[in-house]
Amino acid sequence: AVRIERVNKSYGDAPVLFDINLEVEPGETVCFIGPSGSGKSTLLRCINHLEELNGGRIYVDDDMIGYRLAGGKLHELHENDACKKRVDVGMVFQNFNLFPHMTALENIMLGPVVVLKESKSEVKARALDLLERVGLSGKDGHYPSQLSGGQQQRVAIARALAMQPKLMLFDEPTSALDPELVGEVLAVIKDIARAGDMTMIVVTHEMGFAREVADRVVFMDAGRVVEVGPPEQVIGDPRNERTKAFLSAVL
Ligand code: ATP
Ligand code: MG
Repeated sequence: AVRIERVNKSYGDAPVLFDINLEVEPGETVCFIGPSGSGKSTLLRCINHLEELNGGRIYVDDDMIGYRLAGGKLHELHENDACKKRVDVGMVFQNFNLFPHMTALENIMLGPVVVLKESKSEVKARALDLLERVGLSGKDGHYPSQLSGGQQQRVAIARALAMQPKLMLFDEPTSALDPELVGEVLAVIKDIARAGDMTMIVVTHEMGFAREVADRVVFMDAGRVVEVGPPEQVIGDPRNERTKAFLSAVL
């Protein structure tokens, strides 16, 4: 579960997130939609503590990623502590970010072996299972340059899952892909969502996908959560004028 409480974030003097409150239930899939610059990526990066908060708190299963509470005040964790917490949160980016000099299998195994210090044989078995789950059996020895964009992104998803996170964050996972490769990546994400045991936040411009997969949709605009609800409501029958304007521009 994720609990976002009164989160504020500025870059320098420029505020970008204003008093964000949101709870995501265990096993829930929430899609964030909204115009460019509305703060969707910033909020994801705050959840993962890739950005420091200026105010408020974020809990993932009752842990504060990147912070500890002492004497009623928040203290940033040291780098190693922060990493320890961050492993609970998996993130998939727009541009895959695979290590180019490592095979698909090595990319997936790296985190569990190096960060979690798990045994190579166990991790290898899990990595091969994950490759199968994302439809890439037999591609374990391929380097990123030998894979299509859609295949690389599916390796990136398998790599994040290999850390056995409590929460998965996806930031526009298909927007760097050629149109014919979008479907195969969305299918994998749908599959994970339907399994029901992962809590997921997906920033996406794919409204059809959001309608089909999201338990709830969050519409953000200008650094605020404007509308939250089931997809039939937020996408199908939006109440807020800004949501309506955004949807009529993208649908
Ligand atoms: P998009 O749909 O284009 O990805 P977004 O909703 O993800 O947009 P953010 O990337 O979170 O939006 O950006 C929110 C605001 O914060 C924008 O005004 C952006 O210019 C600003 N911003 C984002 N990252 C930084 C940064 N590292 N330094 C300064 N300003 C930033
Ligand atoms: Mg973004």
